Amino acid sequence: DLVPLRRALISVSDKTGLEDLGRALADRGVELLSTGGTARALRDAGLEVQDVSDVTGFPEMMDGRVKTLHPKVHGGLLALRDDDSHVAAMTEHGIGAIDLLVVNLYPFESAVAGGADYDTAIENIDIGGPAMIRAAAKNHRFVSVVTDVEDYDALLSELDAQDGATSYAFRQRLALTAYARTGAYDAAVSGWMADALGDAAPRRRVVAGRLSQTLRYGENPHQSAAFYTDGATRPGIATARQLQGKELSYNNINDTDAAFELVSEFSADAPACAIIKHANPCGVATGATLAEAYSRAFDCDRTSAFGGIVALNRPLDRATAEAITEIFTEVVIAPEADEDARAIFAAKKNLRLLVTGGLADPAAAGLAIRQVSGGFLVQDRDTGRVGPDALRVVTRRAPSEAEMPDLRMAWTVAKHVKSNAIVYVKDGATVGIGAGQMSRVDSTRIAARKSADMAEALGLDTALTQGAVVASDAFFPFPDGLLAAAEAGAKAVIQPGGAMRDDEVIAAADEAGLAMVFTGMRHFRH
Ligand code: 5GP
Repeated sequence: DLVPLRRALISVSDKTGLEDLGRALADRGVELLSTGGTARALRDAGLEVQDVSDVTGFPEMMDGRVKTLHPKVHGGLLALRDDDSHVAAMTEHGIGAIDLLVVNLYPFESAVAGGADYDTAIENIDIGGPAMIRAAAKNHRFVSVVTDVEDYDALLSELDAQDGATSYAFRQRLALTAYARTGAYDAAVSGWMADALGDAAPRRRVVAGRLSQTLRYGENPHQSAAFYTDGATRPGIATARQLQGKELSYNNINDTDAAFELVSEFSADAPACAIIKHANPCGVATGATLAEAYSRAFDCDRTSAFGGIVALNRPLDRATAEAITEIFTEVVIAPEADEDARAIFAAKKNLRLLVTGGLADPAAAGLAIRQVSGGFLVQDRDTGRVGPDALRVVTRRAPSEAEMPDLRMAWTVAKHVKSNAIVYVKDGATVGIGAGQMSRVDSTRIAARKSADMAEALGLDTALTQGAVVASDAFFPFPDGLLAAAEAGAKAVIQPGGAMRDDEVIAAADEAGLAMVFTGMRHFRH
């Protein structure tokens, strides 16, 4: 299964390592064939190269749209060398076998990431490259295909080990990598188009991504893991720049994403902070300053905040950096970090600091993907928002002007809490969060109990939930959950409504003197 390497076609946009590769191949007696820019670069390095246009008898044309799309190229890649009719066709049409294809594609992903306009993006869609890659990969019984600069060394080692040839197993691995590359490439194009057209219907989108990072391990140390990105360019975990600290882990990435998406719900007009543990917020607050927002978020649940992820909606400043470094924190993510803040963090070598350049867009279209055995579920991101006009007061008492912003904030936070989610808010800060319980009434009680523990730790004599408002991510099926919230001191409630027993729940709210609004929309998050 060894195939000696005699003739190679090289056509690369990224010319990194090209000269060394070309020379190493030429030294091994391999004949080189190249497209315009690649041939020029190889010639400049003093190597002998044949132009593909000389082989095809056609010039490169239409701004490079048509360069290698020709039977002399594709026949050379696809012909089965042990099939008499294929060999006869090669002879008849003067097609020479190509044993190695080295292609890296027009940089579509980076062009789009760099803000290319529509037409420029279109011109950056490589056509001949993927066609050749797929042809060579299909014919891996005879052809080696390299699509990544990082595989040049492996190719040369293989040639050394096999005396100028490649083994079948090696070519199979290359083919696998090649199809992963063309698959990801088209997925990037498709994802970009979906964004450009503002049309992200799940049935029209490809669920694929580009390997961004191999992670040390997964959710647990015995699981291997990697981070794939979908080519999105907006601020967020995939595009954030890490300024310091250890490498992000799988859980860090997951939690940091949750933290940043949540804090991005708060406009940069007012400082806000979200602290996340295990993908759930354990404190979210606004404040007059960023440092105050942090400390109020911290005061929601100081115990859980230990080892947490902190997300900020404004550039990290000195005062906030000082406050954060008082306890052990895993990751901080913010749109920016000023010089003072960076200097303070520099003393904490392990603390990871990420800057995003802006806030995430909670309204941005996109997909949410979840794995199940044998497949995955795909849905639109939860971009649902309830405007102030859509809220319906269902109780005798309407929320006061002071309660209204807290209700809206509680609702926003609840969207980011695992169901069943219960969120108490007072004066622009969460004071109790119940997450991920199988029963809503349990979430309500847990949130209140944690809040009571916190009040005790802070030396307060009234529960923090006293006088707070409460949000529930889905309707209260029975009055019990609502009554538990009233018992904890909640004065106003926001929830979707729509339960069979809404009447009973509303009556219980009226009896307890609560104000309640219905959103008509729920925010399950599992
Ligand atoms: P060069 O820099 O050698 O002029 O061009 C190399 C690039 O052209 C590679 O990224 C390769 O994938 C791409 N390419 C090769 N053949 C074709 C073709 O026929 N059409 C298009 N659009 N791109 C091609």
